[in-house]
Amino acid sequence: TKNNGRNGYNFFQRSMNTIAQSQLQLVNDLWLALERAELRLFYQPKYTAPSGPIVGLEALLRWQHPQRGLLPPDIFLPLAEKSGLIIHVGNWVINEACRQLRCWHQQGHENWSVAVNLSALQFEQSSLVDTVVTALEKHQIPPRLLTLEVTETTAMRNPDESVRILTALTALGVRASIDDFGTGYSSLLYLKRLPASELKIDRAFVNELSENSGDATIVSAIVALAKSLNLKVVAEGVETPQQQNFLTSLGCNSLQGYLLGKPIPPERIDELQEFISTD
Ligand code: C2E
Ligand code: CA
Ligand code: CA
Ligand code: CA
Repeated sequence: TKNNGRNGYNFFQRSMNTIAQSQLQLVNDLWLALERAELRLFYQPKYTAPSGPIVGLEALLRWQHPQRGLLPPDIFLPLAEKSGLIIHVGNWVINEACRQLRCWHQQGHENWSVAVNLSALQFEQSSLVDTVVTALEKHQIPPRLLTLEVTETTAMRNPDESVRILTALTALGVRASIDDFGTGYSSLLYLKRLPASELKIDRAFVNELSENSGDATIVSAIVALAKSLNLKVVAEGVETPQQQNFLTSLGCNSLQGYLLGKPIPPERIDELQEFISTD
């Protein structure tokens, strides 16, 4: 009836307002989180296949929320991207990762490198090159020890632009990595033109390796493709020794995943060293 319809509409409008409001609240809280230093980076090691040494650590963003506890990035990054706040968050990430790397270097881990994830919006900012240069100089990081991870989907959004941006970035000496590879629809022609040094096989393919022989075929094809383009291959999301062995036998250069090391806060990084030296 008409009455029900109106109630339905009111309910719809009310819940829409609530969603909008809670999103607005989250964006606002995220601004404050930046100011109050509630954002933190965890680090997940990338190991030379099959089991060490460490080639680098990937910085993964967390929000230590005063009420809600430790929040993973998928809770707040999409909204940060939508609101543009990701630019500030992303700048903070680049700076913080360089600061931490400098600390590790001073503690004797001179060959460690760090990888930072870039969002699509951040990748397309003309100020990105300046941000990176400033962070490298401020923390005296040799550029080759910073890797910038861009997803295949981001890189293929505007391929000609991406070639231009990545060329400017890699001219600084930093490395570029194509993340979540296999989920986008790269044109081989563009892939060949991208000045990346590394390709990361998406976790989804690694995950299915044991159960799905179709994915084994895809993974070996990706490794072969990467090799022919002179790219290093990283497999992410390695959780079982079977996956580790198979990916190593295919010729993956490095491995990352819960089997080898979960993302941990920097103050626990000594646990990783122990893991390596007892290996
Ligand atoms: P990603 O770059 O593909 O990072 C890998 C994600 O898989 C991480 O989730 C990591 O914790 C998780 N992971 C690693 N090994 C395993 C495994 O063996 N099994 C399983 N099930 N998961 C594994 P996380 O930390 O929640 O990050 C999710 C995504 O958020 C990242 O995916 C990345 O796209 C984005 N992200 C994280 N930090 C940042 C950041 O600082 N800036 C931007 N723009 N994006 C970020
Ligand atoms: Ca990544
Ligand atoms: Ca990935
Ligand atoms: Ca991913």
